Amino acid sequence: MKPLSEFPQDVEPLLAAARAARPHSYSPYSGFAVGAAIRTLDGRLHAGCNVETVAYNNSLHAEMGAVSKMIASGARHFDAVVVVTDSDEPVFPCGFCLQYLSEFGGDATVYAVNVRGSGSFRHAKLSELLPFQFQGHHIRSQASKGDSL
Ligand SMILES: [Zn+2]
Repeated sequence: MKPLSEFPQDVEPLLAAARAARPHSYSPYSGFAVGAAIRTLDGRLHAGCNVETVAYNNSLHAEMGAVSKMIASGARHFDAVVVVTDSDEPVFPCGFCLQYLSEFGGDATVYAVNVRGSGSFRHAKLSELLPFQFQGHHIRSQASKGDSL
């Protein structure tokens, strides 16, 4: 874990986008506001925030919101994602979001940023956080076996 003052300069705009999205979070039930932003391979940034409903299972995670904006823009791949929380320590995406992110950025770098106090962050490759990613080619290899099911 490193102090936020050491956050890499080339990813700073991504951090700014995630920080700007976080206050717009709709999280009245958990009180846990999250902002996320992803950078497409051509350098565009897409941010999202978590959106809860009273039916907890029907909530949108910030990472998913950012991916949705990327897809809506026509892009399909990203190389970096920043997740911003106000917590005791930087928080990496949940398992559900790791799978979601791996669909479009399996080798992306994930930055978990905590803005509490003077701030801190840590980072890892998505492939480290979810080393045996379930991907489309796994399904296609089964389909190619014809009627073996
Ligand atoms: Zn999640």
